[in-house]
Amino acid sequence: MVWVNRNTFVDSIITAFTGCLFLLLGLVWGAVLNRLAGSVTEEGGIRLRAPACAKCLARRGPKYQIPLIGYFAAGGRCPDCGEAIPVRVPVVEAVMGILFAALYLKYGLSWTLLILLIYATVLIILFVTDFEHFMLPNVITWPAMLLAALVALAVTLAHYSLPWSLYYGGSGFMAVFNNFLLCALAGGACGALLLLLVVVLSRGGMGMGDVLLAGLLGLMVGFPLVFIALFLSIMAGGIVAAALLISGRKQRKEMLPFGPFLCTGGMVTLLWGKELLGWYLGLI
Ligand SMILES: [Zn+2]
Repeated sequence: MVWVNRNTFVDSIITAFTGCLFLLLGLVWGAVLNRLAGSVTEEGGIRLRAPACAKCLARRGPKYQIPLIGYFAAGGRCPDCGEAIPVRVPVVEAVMGILFAALYLKYGLSWTLLILLIYATVLIILFVTDFEHFMLPNVITWPAMLLAALVALAVTLAHYSLPWSLYYGGSGFMAVFNNFLLCALAGGACGALLLLLVVVLSRGGMGMGDVLLAGLLGLMVGFPLVFIALFLSIMAGGIVAAALLISGRKQRKEMLPFGPFLCTGGMVTLLWGKELLGWYLGLI
């Protein structure tokens, strides 16, 4: 008995230590993504630049390049000219750190974790590009969709189950859900068609980028969890839009990109979609 306890104790120490490592890894990865985001040219391409102030072009000293800490060490402003550093910088670093640690703690060291780290990266890139530039670049969305479809194919061929998906194990018509590839394709089609309907009905506000992103989310989380992802996105979008309107910070005609909400809804679904669906089905 004593030995079992000691092993569990050692295991939790190792898990906590690895969790911290993933936190640090996520912070560094967030800083890398920030550097890429800071290198986006006016034309939408990427020209890699040394970490420098966007205004006075002064290079950032090593102290200011430390993920998360650098932003606060600089007091949120360029030490040379006082230009504000985008809030996106510490936010992306913190979110990546938290996501890396949370995904590790939830899924352990596994193929699933690797897939989810890639998905998290794609979603945060799309979040930032839509939030800052009102665009969801096809050069990211299409390859990501291909990757998600290939992951679904590989998972199905290997008879492996993705822990966040609904692996039903049913028979008859329900046997469809035993095949993650079909699940993913159905999810992708549902997501894209539903958003396409919204785009047609709303005439503007949302674009084809959102349709593709919804398709991508469907391929990632599969059917029927894609509905949870869309439901969360629409709820969050509605609440934020209402809050901005009421507080007078945005006018009705101003554009509020929907991509960031889709990315958030998708990420939450990858982490807790199954639990949310179970909770919802328990309510009705
Ligand atoms: Zn400066």
